[in-house]
Amino acid sequence: MDKLGALKQYFGYDSFRNGQETLVDGLLSGRDVFGVMPTGAGKSLCFQLPALMLEGITLVISPLISLMKDQVYSLNQAGIRAAYLNSSLTQGQYRLALERAREYTYKIIYVAPERLLTEEFQEFARHVKLAMIAVDEAHCVSQWGQDFRPSYLKIREFTDGLPVRPVMGAFTATATEQVRSDVVRLLNLRDPVQVSTGFDRSNLYFEVQKPRDKFSALLKLLNEAREQCGIVYCSTRKTVEEVCDRLNAEGIPAARYHAGLSDRERRESQEDFLFDRVSVMVATNAFGMGIDKSNVSFVIHYNMPKDMESYYQEAGRAGRDGEPARCTLFYSGQDVRINQFMLQNGRDNEELDEATRALILQRDEERLKKMTFYCFTDDCLRAYILRYFGESAPGYCGNCGSCCADTEETDITEDARKILACIQQSGERFGAAMLTEILRGGGNDRIYRYGLDALPVYGSLSRRTEQQIRAELRYLEGNEYVSTSQDEYRVLGLTGKAEEILLRGETLRMRLPKETQPALKKSKAAAPQGPVDTRLFERLKKLRAKIAGAQGVPAYVVFSDATLRGMCARLPRTRQELMEVSGVGAEKAARYGERFLAAIAEEEAPNPAPAAIPEEEKFQLSEEQKEQLIFLDEPVPVSFLTKKIASVTGGAYKVSAVRVTNWLLRQGYLMEQHTAGGKMRVASDSGRKIGILTEERESESGEVYRINLYDSTAQRFLLDHLGEILS
Ligand code: ADP
Ligand code: MG
Repeated sequence: MDKLGALKQYFGYDSFRNGQETLVDGLLSGRDVFGVMPTGAGKSLCFQLPALMLEGITLVISPLISLMKDQVYSLNQAGIRAAYLNSSLTQGQYRLALERAREYTYKIIYVAPERLLTEEFQEFARHVKLAMIAVDEAHCVSQWGQDFRPSYLKIREFTDGLPVRPVMGAFTATATEQVRSDVVRLLNLRDPVQVSTGFDRSNLYFEVQKPRDKFSALLKLLNEAREQCGIVYCSTRKTVEEVCDRLNAEGIPAARYHAGLSDRERRESQEDFLFDRVSVMVATNAFGMGIDKSNVSFVIHYNMPKDMESYYQEAGRAGRDGEPARCTLFYSGQDVRINQFMLQNGRDNEELDEATRALILQRDEERLKKMTFYCFTDDCLRAYILRYFGESAPGYCGNCGSCCADTEETDITEDARKILACIQQSGERFGAAMLTEILRGGGNDRIYRYGLDALPVYGSLSRRTEQQIRAELRYLEGNEYVSTSQDEYRVLGLTGKAEEILLRGETLRMRLPKETQPALKKSKAAAPQGPVDTRLFERLKKLRAKIAGAQGVPAYVVFSDATLRGMCARLPRTRQELMEVSGVGAEKAARYGERFLAAIAEEEAPNPAPAAIPEEEKFQLSEEQKEQLIFLDEPVPVSFLTKKIASVTGGAYKVSAVRVTNWLLRQGYLMEQHTAGGKMRVASDSGRKIGILTEERESESGEVYRINLYDSTAQRFLLDHLGEILS
């Protein structure tokens, strides 16, 4: 099979991305290669594809267990025999894997650098035919890189000890000049073919915000990114704890990750995030290199990092699938002071002499200054980043906070008419979220159940972003065309003034961002999204969750969001057509094709069965499952419970914390209380009786906030009422 055939067959892609082909060709022709490409560019494929075509076994050296697992899962899904050898295996499992490897069971073997020089492994390596050695995250070999791993220095000793030294490839996303020459020298690459693609990640939208209240700003962003997942980076463990607790208290399921947690806790958090059981990961920079999750839609820096290198690497974890993603940095003056303090008191490197230490400190302070400038520039942020890394860039990108900051006065009369008509036609009984959904032609259950998709206004603002409609709604509210009910439902109604627009032809203008809005800017490959798509897309996502759940792999390993969108756009009817969708290779088409095709066909059938009872309403847990789900030891936030439920049901059901707390509120177990910090939901008398506890905590900045915890009685109560909650 030729390389393009293999590309399609195993990976489901029609063409190479920038840089890939040169590196693949290099390896196939027996040359060493060195690829420097940004995160998400597709480096893995550069060694995985040649590995399939060359005779013998390819060893991939990778620094982290999570990275290995992720890639091995993906390869196995694509029908490629691969395995990993690292400390997560028991001695018995390790032996068995080696034995199989000796029999050429695996085409690709991932191995931790620490293993290379062990007796057992060397014995193995000397007795099989090695096709290639690929070193992933190759910058780990350099002390100048950020993730120096001394065990990477052993790679050279290992390759020198082989009877025949196979062709080698090295790959990394971050490499300054110094790191590059280190990689070539310390790994002993022989006259490598070098490819360095640009640093630009055009699908990432960059912005800096300077909010007075970071937590509210965070909530606002998360609200705009509902249904998507992302990472919130904080500079200290304490802030991670605080932000994570507060998010959970607000009903947003979040996991935490920092170096102060046990290995087990960290692994659990990471898996919750990878497997989409929680949508938000709150973490220090300890959470990072091992994250290959492709559908991260936003990365928010709650604190400013210490330098642009860290920032770009962390922010770069968004949008690996090529879909539009948002990178937001929250700046405050305190961040600068904390960073300065850490630089001066941080790494007291014993091995360095006084002069070197002073030099390093000076260099670090210079970097911090450049990071701070980034937060204050009015120029194009992308240009600032690229120039920092030594690339030239035009001064306008049209996809960052600076380029999109411009607002202009816009005539919104037409939009306003539609919004007001929507409130009227739907009977003045919904809040902003639902109205926005209707106007955008969304497809949640309630819309279909209430028949709102039959309204004349349904989908009439489908080309607007959610943010814009929300902004226009707020504007109408602020100018008293629209009223809001004072209870917790915040139902919107029309005022007498609305007639001026609806009947008397008054026009309305407001300031809106200029046409280059991030949410509208789709990458070229992205499929158009319409009302039908959302519904089908949701359905395909559920199917994917079921399949992934059954196999115990993250959902994106089955198919990426981009691939599901591709299916929605092309609506394939046969397996052949399905394979024309980018990301569907032969193996996956054979494994899952039938089920996805069936789902697409059903959704596309001319007369879908009217108002079938949503599956959720039939949802019931067995006694045994309930017993398993309850946390006995201590009261937990409600999201802990919903997360567990999601994992039991394979993530296919939306038992969100928001849904549960809204239900509790309606039933009177929670009540709203106005405090200085805003509205808070706390346990009512009857709530306390069923075991809901409201606790007060103090945040790092001295603010007092409250958090609701559910003891085992309360958890039991919720599980018993799940059917009701979900209906
Ligand atoms: P890197 O290691 O460079 O950060 P990965 O190897 O993890 O990036 O690839 C990132 C994403 O790009 C993956 O989801 C991968 O499937 C996808 N990808 C790689 N090559 C191609 C290609 N030629 N066409 C489309 N998508 C690709
Ligand atoms: Mg990689």
